[in-house]
Amino acid sequence: MADCIFCRIAQGEIPSAKVYEDDTVLAFRDLDPQAPEHVLVIPKKHIGSVLAFTDADKELAGHILTEVVPAVARSCGIDAGGFRLVTNTGADGGQTVGHLHFHLLGGRLLTWPPG
Ligand code: AMP
Repeated sequence: MADCIFCRIAQGEIPSAKVYEDDTVLAFRDLDPQAPEHVLVIPKKHIGSVLAFTDADKELAGHILTEVVPAVARSCGIDAGGFRLVTNTGADGGQTVGHLHFHLLGGRLLTWPPG
């Protein structure tokens, strides 16, 4: 989508601090980190949120969760200590960018419940 900031990052039109990339997925550092390690994992194709996943996205969803997230956690050195994986969805969920993204946060003790 032309007016989607994360589509533009995925297409390389807006620079990002990449930590992982393959044909379908990009991971890059959040501009406003909430933890020592704060990475956003996005599908390159536009999907609005987890609510917009379709059956056609099952392989992509599995790839993100079973391969990309563990690989990024290991490369950031937060796999042993632990981390949080969050996808804010909709207004009450605090979603501010309408392109599916998973926040991977770690490098400090994260409290619960979130605000
Ligand atoms: P959310 O509020 O869950 O939709 O998360 C959106 C996230 O995108 C926020 O944590 C922002 O700091 C982050 N963000 C927005 N624009 C950029 C950008 N150009 N590069 C990196 N992170 C960004």
